[in-house]
Amino acid sequence: MGTSLDSRSAQATEVIERLHDAYPDTTISLTFSNRLELLVAVVLSAQCTDERVNETTPELFETYQTPEDYAAADEEQLAEDIYGITFHNNKAGYLKGIGEILVEEHDGEVPDTMDALTALPGVGRKTANVVLQHGHDVVEGIVVDTHVQRLTRRLGLTEEERPDAIEDDLMEIIPEDEWQAFTHLMISHGRAVCTARNPDCGDCALEDVCPSSKLDSDVDLASGEAWE
Ligand code: SF4
Repeated sequence: MGTSLDSRSAQATEVIERLHDAYPDTTISLTFSNRLELLVAVVLSAQCTDERVNETTPELFETYQTPEDYAAADEEQLAEDIYGITFHNNKAGYLKGIGEILVEEHDGEVPDTMDALTALPGVGRKTANVVLQHGHDVVEGIVVDTHVQRLTRRLGLTEEERPDAIEDDLMEIIPEDEWQAFTHLMISHGRAVCTARNPDCGDCALEDVCPSSKLDSDVDLASGEAWE
């Protein structure tokens, strides 16, 4: 029987507590060893799996070690070096542009503000939030990716649809010291149990507080439509 708690914040607290128990070690799954590698990996991960990015980056990071390396890169060669990543041609352009701006405007460093990061090509608020959190220990918001988007709607934590609006909604009900962990909890649960097409509600730690539970709801609140 899935019924959400009385208030959205009570629901959020309960969900966070249970998922911390289920996924005690959850964190970012991209591989990187410095801020530039983090930034590059997150840009590459847009609409691509972290696994695919992690397969590609070891060789890439050997070849391109500094912002100058990206700035000086031949774009076609760079696109070839990230072949296999979704939208590799566009992303090669982003990486070269990022290298150029880091060299010209930031002394070759990855900036530590939302404004400076989102001014880089291929970097939106989600990417900037990840870089701030994992590269600079600055938590300015909640990263809303496709798992966070789907699960927060399923769990009745938001009715918003756009990532920016979802983020604002979540920031009102989730304690700030959980903003970073929250994303990783959602991603872990979204991958392991609450998948897009075939969530395993019968084996879900949140089933009794989930208003979308297939065990007694006809509707997937993520889409607003009937479960298939
Ligand atoms: S797996 Fe089912 S019960 Fe669990 S959070 Fe997803 S929709 Fe809700």
